[in-house]
Order: sequence, then structure tokens, then C-alpha cells
Amino acid sequence: MAEDPNLWQPATKLIHGGITRSQHGETAEALFLTQGFVYDNAKAADDRFSGEKPGFVYSRYANPTTAMFEERLALLEGAERCRAVASGMAAVHVALSGLVRAGDHVVAGRALFGSCRWIVKEWLPRFGVETTVVDGPEAHHWAAAMRPNTKAVLIETPANPLLEVTDIAAVSAAAHEVGAKVIVDNVFATPIFQKPLALGADLVVYSATKHIDGQGRVLGGAILGGNELMEEAYRDLLRHTGPAISPFNSWVLLKGVETLDLRVRAQTATAAKLADLIADHAKTARCYYPGRADHPQAAVAHQQMSGFSNMIAFDLGSREAAWRFLDALEVVIISNNLGDAKSMATHPSSTTHRATPEPERLAIGVTEGCVRMNVGLEDLADLSRDVARALDAA
Ligand SMILES: *Cc1c(COP(=O)(O)O)cnc(C)c1O
Repeated sequence: MAEDPNLWQPATKLIHGGITRSQHGETAEALFLTQGFVYDNAKAADDRFSGEKPGFVYSRYANPTTAMFEERLALLEGAERCRAVASGMAAVHVALSGLVRAGDHVVAGRALFGSCRWIVKEWLPRFGVETTVVDGPEAHHWAAAMRPNTKAVLIETPANPLLEVTDIAAVSAAAHEVGAKVIVDNVFATPIFQKPLALGADLVVYSATKHIDGQGRVLGGAILGGNELMEEAYRDLLRHTGPAISPFNSWVLLKGVETLDLRVRAQTATAAKLADLIADHAKTARCYYPGRADHPQAAVAHQQMSGFSNMIAFDLGSREAAWRFLDALEVVIISNNLGDAKSMATHPSSTTHRATPEPERLAIGVTEGCVRMNVGLEDLADLSRDVARALDAA
């Protein structure tokens, strides 16, 4: 091919990126639902295992369908390498554990996806890794948490559930001063609206379960970064601990991602309008949307994001009001998932954040009145009517 795919716009990369056609010349990406691979003779097996000749040896190591998915995501992200794994949590776990050993220190944000919080606070300390959860969203809170033995920094921005925004460039600079690697969980922003590697981060992780699938079907995850770091930190860990993604899921995600650019732009345009509707309603105590001027980190959001995502959070004052809102919805469904084409709303303090101790929950602003909403692809007028009616009922 004469064209360099790296120069394509995201929408084009998502359609043609990473395709390797079989001898049949199929149009749609092939699904290689196979565990293993065969060799013409004993020497051929020896060559492939030694790395002398390219080729696949076992789907725990690599698979042709998964490789197409990885190549497409790498192209979109502008990363040298991508490794796909079974879920977003497998991605976060591998990304962190490949960087640290006993005696090392990890810094993470105070607002984190629940399972990420568990890995940082409960799991890593079991292996002698010290962890610090930063006190606030400002870059100086992060800088104060760095230590000489800090090896990994985990940033989720915008963070779940109240869309707190962290300055990726400033935190990366502080982390690099002590030699730590920076991992950004870029799920809420999506690869369309935020490029952490260009802002100074070393690694990006995704739950592909969310916008990358976009249609609520399969679990998947990905880790992206430079060749050298990906090879050194993760090659053996991925081979020998087995968080491999199913080739079937890779195939579903490979097709899902074709419409990623289109979907998240449409969902985000609708979300911006709904955020204003929600913020202006008398029943709303507080509305959190990174694209609005009243967002606490609006300046940083405008600096590092080119779109403000399809997620909105808002506070209706009490659990009763939040539940009345949810129960009055007729188009928007009640679900804790996100990134889906279907609009969804959830009550974090009784669902996604019920395992977070109350003082910690309140410190990050997750009150009993909070609602988090995933804005889908439905018609704006239908969603506006549904949300306005539910707010009236709250
Ligand atoms: C969903 C999510 C994860 C975990 O992903 P799974 O695919 O459910 O394992 C991690 N981080 C963020 C920000 C998420 O939204």
C-alpha cells in the first residue's frame, strides 16, 4: 500500500486499519477462532518458537484476529504497540503489575473506577507494593504524592463517576521527575477525544467493553504504549499469566470500532445539550459535565480534550429524588454500564460505589443524590423529553 495509514484521519483508520486478509481475500475481517497453529515440518515449528520466522504459535500468546484489533487500536491511538486483553480490569491489572515489584510505590487518583480502587488499595499491598491515593484533583496534590520509589502512576480522567479531570501533562511531568511511568485510563474520554501519549503519559489503558464495543456485547481491554516498554514490562507477563482475549471478542470489537468515531461524536453532541437541560432544571442541585464552564476543572478539560464525552453526572439532593428520577425514565434504561448506544442511568452510591466506604464516597462528591448517565444514540428530542419528565418527577 502506498498510503501511510498513520496519516489517515481516525474515521478511516477505524475502517481499514490493521486488516490482514487471508488467501480468500474476504472483505470483512476474518475470525480465526482457533487455539493453536500447525507447522509444515519440525524445523518450521522450531523456527517459529525461536522467533527466527514470524507466525503464530498459540492464541494465549497472539492470534491473527486479535492482532488485527490491536493494530487498529494502535493506529488510532498513535501508539507503537497495543496488546488486547480479556477485560478492562485485566488491562489495568497487567498495566500496573508489570511495572512494579515489592518495595515499589504506586500513586493513583482518589476518584477511580471501583475495581481499580480495589487493585490499588487491597491487591498490590499484598505483594509488598505501597500505594498512595492522592488527596485532590489538582496537579500539586499528585506531585506531593510522588516518592523516590514511585514506579507507576494511575490517572483516570475524566474519572468515574463525577467526571473529575486530572491534568495529564502536569502529572506526567511530576511522575517523570522521580522516574515513574504514567498510565492513563482513557475510557471516559475515548481515543477520539483525548490522546494521553501526546500529553506525556507512557501507557494508555481501555476497557474495550465500553465505547469500543459500543453496543453492549462483549468484554475486552487494551494496553497501549511504546515498543520497548510494552515488550519489557508486558510480553512475558501476558504470555505466562494468561489474560488473553477470546478471538471471538476481538472480532466483535474489531467490527464495533468501525463506528467508534461516528458514535462517540453523535453521543457527545447529544450529551452536551442534555447536560445544559439538566443543569438548568430546578430539581438539579449540581451538574457535572467537563464541557460546561461550571465544571471545577473546565480549563484543564478544554486544554487536553477535544470533546467532552457522552457521560454526565448530577446531584438531585437525596437518594429518594435520585430514585424517583430513575423510576420515571421511559426511554433511558437503568443500568450501570457505559459507552453503549443505549442511554443508561445509574445511582452510584447504591450500585457501582456501594463498596466504597461512605467517607471516601463523600470525599469525591458521590452523595446519595448523585446520578450518572451514559448518553446513547437515541434522538435528542426523545431523550430531552424523557429526562425533563424524570427531573420533574424527582
Ligand atoms: C469499565 C471500566 C473499567 C473496567 O473494565 P471492564 O471491561 O469492565 O473490566 C476500568 N476503568 C474504567 C474507567 C471503566 O469505566
